[in-house]
This record gives sequence, structure tokens and C-alpha cells, in this order.
Amino acid sequence: MGHKSDIKLIVDGKRTDGRTVDQCREVTMEVNVIPAADGSAKVGFGSTVALASVYGPRELFPRFMQESDTGILRTRYNMAPFSVDDRKKPGQDRRSQEISKVMKHALEPVLFLQEFPKVTVDAFAEVIQADGSTRVTGINAVSLALVAAGIPMSHMVTAVSVGKADGELVTDLNGKEDNFGEADMGFAMVHDTGEVTLLQMDGELTLDEIKKLLDMAQTACGQILEKQKKALRDFYVKRGE
Ligand code: UDP
Repeated sequence: MGHKSDIKLIVDGKRTDGRTVDQCREVTMEVNVIPAADGSAKVGFGSTVALASVYGPRELFPRFMQESDTGILRTRYNMAPFSVDDRKKPGQDRRSQEISKVMKHALEPVLFLQEFPKVTVDAFAEVIQADGSTRVTGINAVSLALVAAGIPMSHMVTAVSVGKADGELVTDLNGKEDNFGEADMGFAMVHDTGEVTLLQMDGELTLDEIKKLLDMAQTACGQILEKQKKALRDFYVKRGE
């Protein structure tokens, strides 16, 4: 991230994948794709694809890890070895630990965990194809999977990346923009309330650019939230038929 390079990321207002600056890649969302999970979802932003599964609420073992006055959310983000061309070394590394942690913080505020003392809700985000913006794709997927699992939530959490490539402010960074752009920002919010639950920035931006990017992120989250709702509607309508 943030490496200056000769790679052209924007030519005549078009990005490497043909998008305009404020356009998301094609967003695909499907709910309950993993039968054994209590809730699951598959979310794709272009060729970045994440699978999320949720288990619980269930009793937390070992018991000494239980919180007597609240339930807890445990999250695990993982990039599959086959998710990138040059095979990622399997297992957890510092990056995936950090992303697991920010994912937990991004989602916890909408859960009524205090209603479920001693239990855990376990959420997994598995990136099966990685082409930039995997953490936000994972957050969108886990948010859907939590709803599908019937976990009591006040709202859905919606996430997107924004940033700067070739001097232009852009929405939903692809892998090239993430690697060779000037800045990237991971963002998650509760669109209905305006509460921001993830804000990470990497690279160089002016205060004015940050303000503009936050506006772009909010607009994109509004569009993505509609797709999350549609994915849920599609699932429950189909099930009811
Ligand atoms: N990436 C990779 N191998 C890795 C980690 C990341 O190829 O071990 C790529 C992947 O396409 C990812 C991008 O680099 O989406 C940006 O990673 P970053 O850490 O910025 O997180 P993300 O934008 O995916 O949330």
C-alpha cells in the first residue's frame, strides 16, 4: 500500500477494471450457503469473495472464559492459501489477527450481547478470492450471516473501502489500487444511525480528501445496505415459497 509506481491506475476517468471513480465493483450477496452453520453468507465485490459463517449463541467453553454479565462475540478472519495467485502461507499471521480484532469491534455495537450472559457468538470470515478490500467484504458477509443466524441485532453493519489512486478519490479499491495507490481507508458503519464502527487509513491524504472520502464511503454504504437487505429478502421469500 502506498507505493509510488509507474502503473497507471486511472486513464480518461476510467479505472483498471473500467469503473468510474465512485463506482463499486459488481456486488454479489447470497445468504445461508453453508448448511451446517447457524447463519452464513457469501459476498463478492468483483473478484474479491468472502464466505462468512456464524455459530451460536452457544455456551462458551472453557468456562473461565465466560463473562457472567454479557455474551461475547469471537471473530476470525482468514485468507485461504488459494485466494491469491502466489499462494498465501496458511494459518494466522499478524495481519489476520489484526483484521479479526477490527472485525469484532466493527460488529459488536449492533449486537445485544448483554442479553446473553456466558455465551459466545462465533463468526468466521474466510476470504476465498482476494483482490483488494477483503476486510470490508468480510464485514459485510459476517453482518449478513449474523442476521441469518437470528442473532438479535439493532441494525446491519455495512462496510466499504475508499482511497486515492493516481491522484483521484475512489470507492471500493481493487487489488492493484490497494497495492499501488496513494491511500486506502477501510470503513464500516451503521448506515441507519450514522454510527461509524471501523475507520482505518493507510497512506497519505489531506484533511479535505478525508472528508470527501467519508462522504463517498457513506454513499456507497447506503447502496451496499440495499443489497444486503435484498439478499435477505431473496432468501426468506424463496424459503417461504
Ligand atoms: N494480499 C495478498 N496477500 C496477503 C495479504 C494481502 O495478496 O498475504 C492482497 C489482497 O489482494 C488484499 C490486498 O493485498 O485484498 C490488500 O490487503 P490489505 O492488508 O490492505 O487488506 P484488505 O484491503 O484486503 O482489507
